[in-house]
Amino acid sequence: MTETSSELVTEKEIEELKIRVLKAKEFAYCPYSKFHVGCTILTKNGKYFNGCNVENASYPAGICAERTAITKAISEGEKDFKIIAVITDSIKCSSPCGICRQVIREFAGSNIHNGKSLQLPIIMFNNDASEKIIKTIDELLPNSFGPEDLFN
Ligand SMILES: [Zn+2]
Repeated sequence: MTETSSELVTEKEIEELKIRVLKAKEFAYCPYSKFHVGCTILTKNGKYFNGCNVENASYPAGICAERTAITKAISEGEKDFKIIAVITDSIKCSSPCGICRQVIREFAGSNIHNGKSLQLPIIMFNNDASEKIIKTIDELLPNSFGPEDLFN
């Protein structure tokens, strides 16, 4: 992995994220897909926000775990994210869907440090969190469109 702000994330924090994101996945409301997804955000203020996928009989009304967690954090006044953890039922480490990548990217711009931006790390666990992959939002959504595009 290249130099990212994830270097500032401690092993203890990653262990805490693992515990919390596994718990978040348990609350997934997914009677239709039966595919559980959990997300945990650690903010720079040291707060954790969990989210799960919440499906709906009117399918498009459902929301992903990542956007659930982000919405919870934003609505509590927290928008400076240190790292985002994601977990699914897949035996492989799954990454956020396209819509969620765009929503994550919206708040990654505030993660600028050392002159770099869009280095917000996403830690993707496999189903039992025995394996993980860490990528930055810039790696998951390169050449992205963001708030600054509207104001320049
Ligand atoms: Zn999604």
